[in-house]
Amino acid sequence: MIRFVGVSIVLLCATLIGTASCAENQPFVVDTLLDGVWLFRAPEHSTSHTNSLVIEREAGLLVVEAQPSPEAARQLLRAIAAVSTKPVQYLLFTHAHVESTGGASAFPESALVIASALTHDALADETRDLSGETRLRATDPDAWTAPPRVLPDMLISSGTRLVDGKHIVELLPLAGGHYPGFVIVRIEAEGFYYVGSMVSTDRNPFADVEHSGIRAWVNSLNSLSLRRPETIVPLRGEAIDADTLRRFRDSLVWVVGQVENAFIEGIDADEVLSFAMDSPSLGEYFNLEADPSFVTTLFETARGEATAQRRKRRIP
Ligand SMILES: [Zn+2]
Repeated sequence: MIRFVGVSIVLLCATLIGTASCAENQPFVVDTLLDGVWLFRAPEHSTSHTNSLVIEREAGLLVVEAQPSPEAARQLLRAIAAVSTKPVQYLLFTHAHVESTGGASAFPESALVIASALTHDALADETRDLSGETRLRATDPDAWTAPPRVLPDMLISSGTRLVDGKHIVELLPLAGGHYPGFVIVRIEAEGFYYVGSMVSTDRNPFADVEHSGIRAWVNSLNSLSLRRPETIVPLRGEAIDADTLRRFRDSLVWVVGQVENAFIEGIDADEVLSFAMDSPSLGEYFNLEADPSFVTTLFETARGEATAQRRKRRIP
């Protein structure tokens, strides 16, 4: 039976799209997480797609994450049309990086784009590099070009509830972490949180040296952990549980501690990274085989923060 279903899908793809493979043209696995809540999950290690969450509401769909490019967004919209006939009512950017915003220009004009004011300001600043991990993960980063930017229509600065007869959805701005102005999504009464790139499931979290805050990231994950989440949905990979969330938080706590130890030991500034990263635990917390690997950038970000803090407190 399983083999028969598999063959049917291949035949359907061949009929619809000629010689192109199914995987290229139907890049998402669709996980039904709650009634009317679907995770369009990108393939593991995808260089061009991310997860998007879709919540069906009475008046239309709320889509969280626009995909990294208009092309990926068009594929997402086609995949969404196979599970719901409702129009996209809202598109939420969790943050300003391309992995969350790059596909927005492919969404219908009628969709209302929601984001935090900080996300709006980052997108409006044309000098700000928002390529983030998307360009670095691309098959050919040198050939990668930034997609058109779309500014949000509706800005939120505090918790915002979208209430209808199906689910009570809450949009929650965080104090900091992966990127300033990050917004996560909670579905009330279900212990359900969409957290996007606030959690890395591949042990290779991307930090933006200039704009990420590792300490704030830890604080945000602590706050989230205290809410007793049951289902946590990241930008990549399947939904995770609270223990996995805490393990990820602990990896960031460890980075902060390693960098702090280097300063306490009086290590020269240009040796701090190698000192902090010289531990067998590094390979336990992070995937050192990842390509590209963002682990050094994570430590650089923590070092930058520690340096700024010590300067502020006049600690030598
Ligand atoms: Zn990002």
